[in-house]
Amino acid sequence: MDRTDLQASKWQAVSRVVLGYAVFAALWILLSDEAILLFTQDAQRIVQISQYKGWAFVAITSALLAVLMERQWRRHNAAVTQQLEASALLHYIADSSEDAIFAKDLEGRYLLFNRAAAGFVGKPAEQVIGRDDGAVFPPEQAQMLRDTNRRILEHGEIEKLEEVIQTTRGTTTFAVTKGPLRDPQGRIIGTFGISRDVTEARRAEAAIAELAYHDQLTGLPNRFLLEDRLHQALASATRSGRYGAMLYVDLDHFKRINDSYGHGAGDEVIREAARRLSSHVRQGDTVARIGGDEFIVLLPDLAPTEAGAGALALTLGHKLRELLGAPMQLSALQCTTSASFGITLFPRAGNGQADLLREADIALYRAKDGGRNALTLFSQDMQNHITERFALEQDLRGALAAGQLQLWLQAKHDRQGRGCGAEALLRWQHPTRGLVSPALFIPIAEEAGLIADIGHWVMREACELMAREQAAGRSLALAVNVSPRQFQQGEFVQRVKRVLQDTGADPRLLTLEITEGLLLEHTELMLQRMEALAALGLRFSLDDFGTGYSSLAYLKRLPLQELKIDRSFVRDLPADGNDCALVTAMTSLAHHLGFTVVAEGIETPAQQAFLSQLGCDVFQGYLHHQPEPAAAWLARRAAAGG
Ligand code: C2E
Ligand code: MG
Ligand code: MG
Repeated sequence: MDRTDLQASKWQAVSRVVLGYAVFAALWILLSDEAILLFTQDAQRIVQISQYKGWAFVAITSALLAVLMERQWRRHNAAVTQQLEASALLHYIADSSEDAIFAKDLEGRYLLFNRAAAGFVGKPAEQVIGRDDGAVFPPEQAQMLRDTNRRILEHGEIEKLEEVIQTTRGTTTFAVTKGPLRDPQGRIIGTFGISRDVTEARRAEAAIAELAYHDQLTGLPNRFLLEDRLHQALASATRSGRYGAMLYVDLDHFKRINDSYGHGAGDEVIREAARRLSSHVRQGDTVARIGGDEFIVLLPDLAPTEAGAGALALTLGHKLRELLGAPMQLSALQCTTSASFGITLFPRAGNGQADLLREADIALYRAKDGGRNALTLFSQDMQNHITERFALEQDLRGALAAGQLQLWLQAKHDRQGRGCGAEALLRWQHPTRGLVSPALFIPIAEEAGLIADIGHWVMREACELMAREQAAGRSLALAVNVSPRQFQQGEFVQRVKRVLQDTGADPRLLTLEITEGLLLEHTELMLQRMEALAALGLRFSLDDFGTGYSSLAYLKRLPLQELKIDRSFVRDLPADGNDCALVTAMTSLAHHLGFTVVAEGIETPAQQAFLSQLGCDVFQGYLHHQPEPAAAWLARRAAAGG
């Protein structure tokens, strides 16, 4: 009932009172002696009538009162019927809903309990109405529901919440709206609630979250969840001032497991590695899988000092490395792998999540570079090195076009001291750094994908020199270094053929120096390419022999003519007994297979004497010739008569 209704009913009451009085007055006047006299002019009648006057008055007012009471009673009756109809309607609507709908009085006794609610608790509404939660739910849940009720009665506000309740459907999650029940005057007379079963929706959400934040193969957190945890770890470390660590773990040569035993075995190894890593960390730590064979172990809150955290991280890292290195029993076979670890600590001023990952990655790269199965703790020196390397890479991108690359030559000679060509060695004349060694920039060129073009330039330069010397009647044999990445380029054979055609250089005077790394991947394809080039007349030399992952079996299969004993074996000759034994064995093996043996890095007469006496065929080293710019070298050679 709104304000205008209230006012209207007031005026209605007033007008009724006025009307009542008007009727009363009219009757009074009508029945007064004077009036009767006026109408009848008969004194006798006056006496008669006045005898009934009182009775008539009573009868008429009673009749009036009766009429009024009847009207009032009818009105009341209509209101009760209306209420009854409304309540039936409310029940009908409530029962049509799939949501549980209920209302309770101030004591928590149910006033309304719809069909869906009855279905959830497995009791008909009649057994619930008039009773409280204690009669419907187990004690703990009843208490929880009572607490919510009390809160709503206290605050008088509508609340939206989630309740987990045991129902006939099992553990059920409800999204609930509860609020105070008020009478038309706004007084709180109880509570009401509407509960929707959202169990399936929550389950689906949880499944989606699981998919979005976890790795399918291992069930570990994925990169997204890791980022979240990292964010929290960094924030809490910055707040508390306590140090934590991040370990970047990468399985060594994982690709080989996949290639050799298949992806199924690879997956098993990943799962087992995940299990081993997870089994040895504390509850609050995170082990996440962020790539094929890459894991992150996040160890927040390790120690109050950086040094302490570093020591603990290294200790745990060593433990994890040992664990991952232990043999793994897969379903079909046993396999052993190892892992490398890059570690960084936090918090460090100005360091965000991305910085941490980058630092751990740099440290990991170092661990891998140092021979794998190792642990490296990130240091600022590493960062400087990486920054420097990046700067070099940027400069290297423009070096070829800017004409900063030069070809230098280092002569070789045979046992009789006769010159037998030279090795072409690249130099980079950097505008500010001066002459940069290929040992520094070739690996960068390989990683930056620049080696194919740079290598091609060297090949063309070398062939042009050979062709020019040939034309001048001085045949020149040159050895060109070819990096594995360059050789692996699909176009490699075609490009070499084209250079030979374009320049007219004699292929038989061109030697390609390859390293053992070339055969690590796509071995058969590499062999085919070598054979295709050998068929043109080119020679192959195995450079840096003994430093890589040689398989002696390949030596027999490769179309090789020459083997170069690496400088590292020559350096300590003849003092170092081990090196003497190794070089002796290598020379004998190479000769046995019919290869020419070249010894490089000869700096002393003692080395030269030892290698000569061993029977090495060709010699290269500072003792005889330093590398020098090609033009100067050729001019000297021409002056000496070829
Ligand atoms: P490498 O092919 O083993 O070349 C021999 C290296 O030993 C050269 O270093 C040479 O200057 C150096 N050397 C020769 N005799 C001595 C000696 O008596 N003592 C000492 N200490 N060193 C000596 P360089 O020119 O710095 O080249 C380093 C490496 O860079 C080469 O090793 C080769 O692997 C690579 N490289 C050079 N030029 C090229 C190129 O054009 N392409 C590719 N892919 N790699 C190249
Ligand atoms: Mg070489
Ligand atoms: Mg070498």
